[in-house]
Amino acid sequence: MIEYVKRTWAVVDLDRLDHNLREVQNYVGNDCMVMGVVKADAYGHGDQYISTELEQLGVNWFGVSGIEEAQNLRRWGIEKPILIFGATPLDYSFMLWEYQITQTVHTYSYAWELEQEAAKQGKTIRVHIKLDTGMSRLGFLVAGSHRQQSLEEIEKIANFPHLQVEGLYTHFACADEDDADSVEYTWQQFRQYEQTRDALKAKGIEFALHHCCNSAATLHYPQMHLDMVRTGIVLYGLAPSPERKRELALQSAMELYSRITMVKEIDSQTSVSYGRIFQANQTMRVATVGIGYADGYERMLSNRGRMLVHGQEAPVIGRVCMDQLMLDVTHIPQAQEGDLVTVIGRDGDCVVDFDELAEQTGSINYEKVCLIGKRVPRVYRKGGEEIGVVAMGKGKSMEPRRLILSEEE
Ligand SMILES: *Cc1c(COP(=O)(O)O)cnc(C)c1O
Repeated sequence: MIEYVKRTWAVVDLDRLDHNLREVQNYVGNDCMVMGVVKADAYGHGDQYISTELEQLGVNWFGVSGIEEAQNLRRWGIEKPILIFGATPLDYSFMLWEYQITQTVHTYSYAWELEQEAAKQGKTIRVHIKLDTGMSRLGFLVAGSHRQQSLEEIEKIANFPHLQVEGLYTHFACADEDDADSVEYTWQQFRQYEQTRDALKAKGIEFALHHCCNSAATLHYPQMHLDMVRTGIVLYGLAPSPERKRELALQSAMELYSRITMVKEIDSQTSVSYGRIFQANQTMRVATVGIGYADGYERMLSNRGRMLVHGQEAPVIGRVCMDQLMLDVTHIPQAQEGDLVTVIGRDGDCVVDFDELAEQTGSINYEKVCLIGKRVPRVYRKGGEEIGVVAMGKGKSMEPRRLILSEEE
C-alpha cells in the first residue's frame, strides 16, 4: 500500500498515457518520430514518471522549456535526446554538453555566444534552429525583408565549428482552429518553412531533422508531419481545442480527488463562505471539502463548479477558499465525513473533465492541468494498481514516515 495524505490527490494513469502515445504513433506512421513534450512538469502530470514511461514506450525525443527541466530528465535516467525550446543562459551552457542536451538557437548573437563558450572548453553543442514563420515568439524571421539576413546568419551558424546543427523547426500559431483564415495562416507558415529549407539547401546547408507540428497540427495537417511531431497535450489525453476532438480516441490521464471533511445541516437564510455570495433558501446539507485554489481549483469556480459524490453531481456553493470549499449535498443523503469526492474524473454515469473547467473559467485545458497545485500528491496507476507517488515532503531526507500518514481504512 502506497502512503500519501488523502486530502486532495491526483491519479495519473500510465496505461492511458501508453494508449495515447500508441494512437499518435499509429496515426503518424513509422516514418515519423514522436517527441514527447514534458515541459512544465509534464503539463502538471509529473515529469519523472511520465518521461520514464514515455521512454520505455518508445518515444524518440523529449521536449522541455529550459535547462532545469532537461537536467531533471537526465536525473530520472532519461537517455533519449532532449530539446530545449527556450534559451539557456550562457552561464549554464556547460550543462548542455555535460548532460548531452540539444539547444534551440533563435538568434545569430545567441548562436555566436554559445559557439564561444563551447570553443573555450573544446566542446560541441548540438542545436536546432528555430524559424519564426508567424508566431512572433522565438526564432529567425524569414518573411519578406527579413529573409535574406536570416538566411545569411543561419549559413554562418551552420559553419560554426563547435555547434552541431542538427535540426530546423518552427511553431504554428493557430493550427488548433478550424476557420478558413486560420487554416490559410497555418499553410502560409508551412510554406515559409519549406521555402527557407529549400533556400538553405540550395546553399548546401541541410538538416537531419525537420519538425513543425504540435498536437493540433499533428492531428489536422498530416501533410506537415515531416521527420518528427512534437506532441504534448494529446499524450495526456486532452484535445488541443474543443472544436476539433475526434481524430484520435484519447483517454484523459489525470483524475483529481478529494474528501469530505464535514457535513452539516444549515438553516434557510444561512450564508456560506467568504463574502456571503451564497445564501440558503431552504434547509440544506452542506459538505466541506479539503480542496481550494491553492490546489488549483480556482476561485473563479465559486458558485459555479460541480463535483461528484456517490455518483451524483454536487454544486460548489459560495466562494472557493485557499484550502477548502463547500458543496451542496442536500440531494445526496448518504454523503458523510470521509467520503470520496471526484473533482475531475468519472463517478458512476457522471463525468467532470478539464474541458468543462476550462470552459467555466474562460481558459483552455492546458492551463487547467498546469495549475494543479504543487502540494497535491501525484499518484501513478498502472495495470489498475498504484505503483508510485510523488508528493511534497516525500524525499529521503524528509523522513516521510513522520510526515505521511497512512490511510485509515
Ligand atoms: C509546448 C510546445 C509543443 C507542444 O504543444 P502541444 O499543443 O501540447 O502538443 C510543441 N512545440 C513547442 C515549441 C512547444 O512550445
